[in-house]
Amino acid sequence: MHTNQPTSVNILGAGLAGSLLSLLLTKQGYQVSVYEKRDDPRNAQIAEGRSINLALSLRGWEALRKAGIEEVIRKQAIPMKGRMIHNLEGETHLQPYSADDKSIYSVSRAALNNILISQSEEKGVTFNFNHLCEEIDLAKNEASFRFSGETKRMPSDLLIGTDGAFSALRSALQKTPRFNYSQHYIAHGYKELSIPPTSEGEFAMEPNALHIWPRGGYMLIALPNMDKSFTCTLFLPYEGERSFAALQNKQQVRIFFENNFPDTLPLMPDLEEMFFQNPTSDLVTIRCYPWTYNGKQLLLGDAAHAIVPFYGQGMNAAFEDCRLFTEMLYGKTDDLAEVIFQFQKSRKPDADAIAELALQNFIEMRDLVADETFVERKKIEKELFLRYPEQWTPLYNMVTFSHRPYAEALSMGKKQDAIMQQVMQQYSKASALGGEDYAKIIAMLDGKQEAGD
Ligand SMILES: Cc1cc2nc3c(=O)[nH]c(=O)nc-3n(C[C@H](O)[C@H](O)[C@H](O)COP(=O)(O)OP(=O)(O)OC[C@H]3O[C@@H](n4cnc5c(N)ncnc54)[C@H](O)[C@@H]3O)c2cc1C
Repeated sequence: MHTNQPTSVNILGAGLAGSLLSLLLTKQGYQVSVYEKRDDPRNAQIAEGRSINLALSLRGWEALRKAGIEEVIRKQAIPMKGRMIHNLEGETHLQPYSADDKSIYSVSRAALNNILISQSEEKGVTFNFNHLCEEIDLAKNEASFRFSGETKRMPSDLLIGTDGAFSALRSALQKTPRFNYSQHYIAHGYKELSIPPTSEGEFAMEPNALHIWPRGGYMLIALPNMDKSFTCTLFLPYEGERSFAALQNKQQVRIFFENNFPDTLPLMPDLEEMFFQNPTSDLVTIRCYPWTYNGKQLLLGDAAHAIVPFYGQGMNAAFEDCRLFTEMLYGKTDDLAEVIFQFQKSRKPDADAIAELALQNFIEMRDLVADETFVERKKIEKELFLRYPEQWTPLYNMVTFSHRPYAEALSMGKKQDAIMQQVMQQYSKASALGGEDYAKIIAMLDGKQEAGD
């Protein structure tokens, strides 16, 4: 590795992870070039066929803070303090995310991406748009790009693949010995719809909440936008009685919404047009390892671990990857390969854990949030957190409002779940528990007590 010349880094993909990483690396003195297959997103009007807004939480904020752009993004972020549950009668109730008033934030994917690119460019990162990476020579650490009908070969000291769920770097790694890879599609797809502002130019629903219409095997959600619209996402199986396959014409769509999400109909005047105009997209979990071939490349973000979106953590995990990796790298440029090997080893269990948590949370969102026992259980856990904040942090808080490694959160969550299952057999209502009962539950964490002892 050079000691006088700056280390050159080529990044594949100017999406959320690639553009943030380029900013973090350039601040450490690396010479960074980013190659993106699409046109400069700052020229586009809207994000094409992608989720238009995303839930940003603590892990994401911390990475943005490290990059020095937290405050810029805060100006574009709408706090959502809980889940607003819509029942079939159109009644709503708010389930706060946290007992201590913490929020997650709705941000526009396009605005966030554009700010990240502009800030990185200002700091000296070179962005090469319309550069599709077609091939990678791992031995030479050289990526080949298609640009204006020509092939360009670009070597670098370090090649990072933040090129998303269908990564070109990962495809190259797949051809190397003992590379493990799996991809799993769930039976559901998703379609984005939109609720425009009212005729007075106001939000049509409560803006400071993530709205959910949980209906068992499927659900609709909505997140607020700065222009006072909401982006809605319908998660529905591809096949079956209630499925995308069963919604083939405008009348079927209207009846489906009348039966399942009646309160949305007056808010979505263009429902049928949007439904047939907007694409239906897949949901995939991708697991792979290792994330490098010889310590000169690294997969990060969705390229290393694409997950289903139900914990709102894909981008947050990708941002956390960027922060943790650049923190490990700080001052260790001469040990690049060592840092890369260490990073992948320490981060892989967390990537696996958040993949599992995201799949689990789909059941919670579409089903359990409307279940009475689940609601009572949440109340008990909230009380435990208020009484014993050091000992009992609910799983959602650990994942969303803490920096605790995902693998630790998952394992603690399993322990809490086993205890809460016993507790819920004993008491069906939170109001049945007194101070001593809460103390007993805490004692169960150390295996000192059984429920009802
Ligand atoms: C419906 C939905 C809702 C979501 N909601 C949330 C949420 O609320 N909160 C959250 O944290 N996460 C959410 N996510 C997850 C989040 O979108 C991803 O985790 C995040 O975008 C990952 O960032 P990335 O940079 O790794 O990949 P991407 O954002 O996919 O970026 C990859 C980039 O690489 C480029 N590229 C790909 N191939 C090549 C190539 N061969 N050559 C050059 N460039 C290439 C692409 O054009 C793209 O710009 C959601 C995802 C979905 C599908």
